[in-house]
Amino acid sequence: MLEVTGIETFYGKARVLNGLGLTVGAGQVVALLGRNGAGKTTTMKSIMQLVPPRAGRVVFDGADITGWPPHRVAQAGLGYVPEERRIFTQLTVAENLEVGRQKARPGRVAWTEAQLFELFPNLAERRGNRGKALSGGEQQMLTIARTLMGNPALVLLDEPSEGIAPVIVEQMAQAILTLKAEGLTVLISEQNLHFARAVADSVVIIEHGEARFSGTLADLDARPDIRDAYLSV
Ligand code: ATP
Repeated sequence: MLEVTGIETFYGKARVLNGLGLTVGAGQVVALLGRNGAGKTTTMKSIMQLVPPRAGRVVFDGADITGWPPHRVAQAGLGYVPEERRIFTQLTVAENLEVGRQKARPGRVAWTEAQLFELFPNLAERRGNRGKALSGGEQQMLTIARTLMGNPALVLLDEPSEGIAPVIVEQMAQAILTLKAEGLTVLISEQNLHFARAVADSVVIIEHGEARFSGTLADLDARPDIRDAYLSV
């Protein structure tokens, strides 16, 4: 469903991705792992074309989207949830969701507010509260829910478990598994191997802007040398 090949991405003259490649199959949850600064966020921004790669290709659902403007990438069915929570603090939870609403692409069923509240029960209780009244974890959930209102086929989640309370992390993992059960494809970036283990079918480990390992968690468990070399444990 998503095929990234040999991408090179720069900030000014600094090359941050060095020929990175990865594949995400339809309906899979893949975790992008790596230390701080390894290039996980840049990989997501490159896929979205927010920071377009200068070399390599990004193919989504059979279309080469390399160089497309980001809004077209979103219309093609890619949803992006950045690490920093992006909600409207003065709008209520329900209004935030409304802002994210897009028509579903042909042949797909649109998410309803009720389904999203089922996915994130905390938000249901907060329906009429303003964004600024929510906890960090609830804001993270709202950011994801708002992205889902755009009815993406694949969601990119940048460090969804970062800086949120353990009980909410648990709910987040549950929600990701529900998305997978609904047929969505998910690419998450994580530093937390434990979280990746709870949700991912396979992992890609990146270091210095290159994919150094890809395989299932069982494959990774069989390679403690890889884990010790590229992940902070
Ligand atoms: P983190 O977990 O800290 O988000 P990451 O694996 O997502 O790490 P990136 O944010 O992709 O890593 O950063 C990769 C490299 O690119 C780092 O060396 C970082 O300093 C650099 N970098 C990131 N954003 C910019 C920018 N806007 N301008 C210049 N350099 C940047």
